[in-house]
Amino acid sequence: MAKQYDVVVIGAGPAGYHAAIRAAQNGFKTAVIDGFIGAEGKPALGGTCLNVGCIPSKALLESSEQYHKAQHDLAAHGILIDQVGLDVPAMIERKAKVVKGLTGGIAQLFKANKIEWLQGHGKLLGSGEVEFAPIKGKAEVVKAKHIILATGSKPIEIDAAPLDGERIVDSTGALEFQDVPKRLGVIGAGVIGLEMGSVWSRLGAKVVLLEAQDSFLAPVDAQCSRDAYRQFTKQGLDIRLGARVTSVNAGKNLSVHYEDKDGKQSVQVDKLIVAVGRRPQTDGLAADEANLLIDERGFVHVDEQCRTNIPGVYAVGDVVRGPMLAHKGMEEGIMVADLIADKYGHVNYDSVPWVIYTHPEIAWVGKTEQALKAAGVPYKAGSFSFAANGRALAMDQSGGLVKVIAHAETDRLLGVHIVGPMASELIAEAVVTMEFGGSAEDLGRIIHAHPTLSESVHEAALSVHKQAIHKAN
Ligand code: FAD
Ligand code: AMP
Repeated sequence: MAKQYDVVVIGAGPAGYHAAIRAAQNGFKTAVIDGFIGAEGKPALGGTCLNVGCIPSKALLESSEQYHKAQHDLAAHGILIDQVGLDVPAMIERKAKVVKGLTGGIAQLFKANKIEWLQGHGKLLGSGEVEFAPIKGKAEVVKAKHIILATGSKPIEIDAAPLDGERIVDSTGALEFQDVPKRLGVIGAGVIGLEMGSVWSRLGAKVVLLEAQDSFLAPVDAQCSRDAYRQFTKQGLDIRLGARVTSVNAGKNLSVHYEDKDGKQSVQVDKLIVAVGRRPQTDGLAADEANLLIDERGFVHVDEQCRTNIPGVYAVGDVVRGPMLAHKGMEEGIMVADLIADKYGHVNYDSVPWVIYTHPEIAWVGKTEQALKAAGVPYKAGSFSFAANGRALAMDQSGGLVKVIAHAETDRLLGVHIVGPMASELIAEAVVTMEFGGSAEDLGRIIHAHPTLSESVHEAALSVHKQAIHKAN
């Protein structure tokens, strides 16, 4: 007889495992199908994010920042180190340990919540039915009242630069270099390209980023992206905008050919990272008879509450519309698991924070100034520079700014944009304020500890009404 569950989730990335844990908390008999093969060739939970995405990239960003600091920044603190060495395999090994700890932690959580992990491939057959093909053995049909698709995304590959797994790699390969390439090319100066480029640049590679678009970080508030661009180029990142890669010749060197406003160009590198975006993972996800609706961009079609066109089948995370961010998928997973338990569930897509974990970090929530201008929304903006923040100066991290944008009539927060130290953490306050419908005045009236970086958020909010204290408004 077919195995029977209340909830079957396909995919154990952040969206899927959050859905599964909340479903189990809600009293549902839950199974998760996932066939990801992680480090050491063993199945691992956590999907892209834990195995080859958010976590390993942050581990390497941290290590490379420490190395860079030891080499360049400690002398200013009066700390003199004779020689700073680099052991890349040890760095990669530390990253693998962090990943292993976290993926193992999800396995423990599954046990604690009595969630069954079915290791293999899942395919939707239709309402209430999934085919489960184990990594080894025969496929079987499992039944579930509710099915949640959470199969995530994959790196986009381009014909101009076919991956060879050695010298031309995607973001996964870029997390595994065993030594520092002398010259590194990165195609795409988006979030992943900038993070990976930063890691290897801090470790000593000469990095060139080739970005097809004319503007730098188009989704970021223009004032912040300008500031970040200035800081990145000062660090030595060679960011070439309006540069569309057309082909790569793999000889002794890699010759990367691209076109920009001046015509055909090329650059020689030793390794090349292709970071041109990600696409939803729907290959083999549903049988044709299931008639799962996929939209024109390849995402599983869902409504506001992540219902697909098939009764009892939901989809969450990178495989559906919206930003490809782990926390967006997590919240969708929780929403769906609560909705099927007849509880309240919602995701406020207007207050999803974004973070780029470079140096400086870039974080934002809500609308950019350019988007508000284009939409004709009346607004007021205030900003505050970290150069006037005591804690930032004490940390030697005084680059960047906080910008707060509020509605000109209601003063309600419309967007907060940060470039600078710990922007990833500072943005949380802005998200909370926006979620509660708070105003710039609210943020300006909240007590912020002194001296902290968060005082810059406070001052930027005060600056909306030209009342910042440490600034000539
Ligand atoms: P995934 O994490 O992609 O998980 C999907 C899982 O489903 C995988 O395990 C896959 O093997 C499995 N699967 C797919 N099809 C099937 C099938 N048919 N049967 C069984 N299993 C299947 N986001 C952030 O928010 N912050 C960051 O700092 C960040 N950094 C990143 C850095 C890098 C280098 C990369 C590549 C991504 C980063 N992201 C970051 C994006 C983040 O990883 C994704 O948004 C997130 O992983 C999406 O979660 P998900 O659960 O939808 O899918
Ligand atoms: P993201 O979507 O943040 O991962 O960024 C991917 C970036 O890659 C986008 O900014 C694209 O403009 C860029 N891109 C895509 N194709 C090419 C190409 N052939 N050459 C250079 N940049 C590209």
